[in-house]
Amino acid sequence: MLNGKTALVTGSTSGIGLGIAKALAAQGAHIIVNGFGDVDAARAEIAQTGAAHGIRTGYHNADMSKAEQIASMMAYAETDFGGVDILVNNAGIQHVANIEDFPVDRWDAIIAINLSSAFHTMRLAIPGMRKKNWGRIINIASAHGLVASAQKSAYVAAKHGIVGLTKTGALETAHTGITVNAICPGWVLTPLVQKQVDARAENGHIPVEQAKRELLMEKQPSGEFVTPEQLGALAVFLCSEAAAQVRGAAWNMDGGWVAQ
Ligand code: NAD
Repeated sequence: MLNGKTALVTGSTSGIGLGIAKALAAQGAHIIVNGFGDVDAARAEIAQTGAAHGIRTGYHNADMSKAEQIASMMAYAETDFGGVDILVNNAGIQHVANIEDFPVDRWDAIIAINLSSAFHTMRLAIPGMRKKNWGRIINIASAHGLVASAQKSAYVAAKHGIVGLTKTGALETAHTGITVNAICPGWVLTPLVQKQVDARAENGHIPVEQAKRELLMEKQPSGEFVTPEQLGALAVFLCSEAAAQVRGAAWNMDGGWVAQ
């Protein structure tokens, strides 16, 4: 379905980004990987998933908190892949503290990585998408793009911000073949959430499995984690022709979190 398209997935070396990159590769899209950690392992997994389609993978190590590094990643996408057809803004970090205790450098980093980076990739990707009159922009927001939780001020502000950026992007491209949407996951058991589970286990002197259950029960009525594979399938749908009129949506996949 996506043969010949190129997808750039930021933060695709782990968790949700890796799941989405694999789902797009399985549909035949070439994948530009970005993020830190075990890059080779992630790239090999993605390449293997798309092998039947003969996809290519690329990699750029841009730090998504740095506008000039984002610009060089977009230039790399242009020269090596002929531009970005599918842009998935996924890279993100978390920090948990009350506002009065929130480290200023963590606030700045979360706003830069979880919000401003999407502005930079979008401003640089949209002109090429306009020329082709086709594009898909998928911003990975969160249930925290729709509702708040205590101690997550920067994250909630950034995720509400990315939902707003998504709506504006959708309006500005409404008469084109470019769609802009956000996905709002609930809890997904990735390294980002495992840290929060571990902190809860340590602070409450409880086993990790109990901390997991308590974390889910607090917010997610299904009591089950959302998976990167399920989010990958939603991203594939948003890239399909059937989703051509889904524009400016903030689509929750959250086990019922925001229905409460
Ligand atoms: P993760 O920690 O597993 O992966 C984060 C990815 O971002 C990694 O590839 C990492 O290398 C990359 N990254 C981090 N900082 C970066 C930077 N400065 N520059 C480039 N890449 C960077 O996390 P995840 O849970 O898969 O989260 C992915 C996205 O999904 C985030 O935007 C997160 O806010 C969002 N999200 C996660 C959950 C959840 O429950 N896990 C829920 C809702 C939304």
